[in-house]
Amino acid sequence: LSKFGLSNTTELIGHYAILETIGTGAFSEVKLAVDLNGCRNVAIKMISTKGIEDSERLKTSILREVEILKYIDHPNIVKLLDTVETSTHYCLILEYVSGGELFDYVNDHYENSNEDESKRIFIQLVNILEYLHENNIVHRDLKLENILIDSSNQSSNGPIIKLTDFGLAKFIDKSPILTARCGSEEYAAPELMSGKLYDGRKTDLWSLGVVLYALLVGYLPFNLEAGQTRRQFFSRILRADFTFPNSEKETGRKSMISNEAKDLVKKILQVNPQKRLSLSEIKNHSWLKGVAV
Ligand code: ADP
Ligand code: MG
Repeated sequence: LSKFGLSNTTELIGHYAILETIGTGAFSEVKLAVDLNGCRNVAIKMISTKGIEDSERLKTSILREVEILKYIDHPNIVKLLDTVETSTHYCLILEYVSGGELFDYVNDHYENSNEDESKRIFIQLVNILEYLHENNIVHRDLKLENILIDSSNQSSNGPIIKLTDFGLAKFIDKSPILTARCGSEEYAAPELMSGKLYDGRKTDLWSLGVVLYALLVGYLPFNLEAGQTRRQFFSRILRADFTFPNSEKETGRKSMISNEAKDLVKKILQVNPQKRLSLSEIKNHSWLKGVAV
């Protein structure tokens, strides 16, 4: 360990030396670590398998995440490098993405960014979803926290992103029609609220619309606000009842949101999944004209 400038008390998982915690989710903790074999940084998603009531179910869901990540090969999706099982945790060794979450990026950069940057981030997401759906995979947890910024890859065209967290992803070779309710409520499509069967590709599209709104406006279209009941919050989603700020003062951005951008958001955030724009329709929308896709 000292050869790597690490103290002797550094925790090891396999040949990975743990440096610090970089993220926590509902069922996992993500650590920054050094691969002592390759001398590079990795991210380790550690899922506790101790004291879990339904450990068989947890195991099934971890194995599914691993199976899907192994199958995927896309420059804008985090790569699974290895897996390690300890007596207390199941660990996914992932490619480390160093620029943090899109959530923080939007919070920190929104006021000084412009619509072109939103566009370049959005088109990457469209391409990622297209890849996944073409490969019969639905993500089901698309949100700002699960989209990472790749700061090792600074292009003059703005940030490069990588999608992570395939904990709720699913192969849909047999049928795209699903039942399990999952993901964050802020990003959940109306049909997920009603308890009916749903098409996982269409709910991914709704979440994509929520992310697009956040990129353009700087906050989420549906949020449980102070003084609001959960019922009111859900009812706003069920009616796709969202508005755009109508002055520059309200957004804090130097330029107003263009009508084309607003039109695209409205056409994606359609209550009826059949009316929601498809990925190819999104690519052909006037807001994305002239952007390399
Ligand atoms: P959960 O399923 O518990 O939400 P995630 O896979 O989303 O777990 O990981 C939790 C957080 O850890 C992410 O939101 C992100 O901040 C961070 N993280 C996850 N994977 C990586 C990675 N490959 N590189 C850097 N940070 C990551
Ligand atoms: Mg997550």
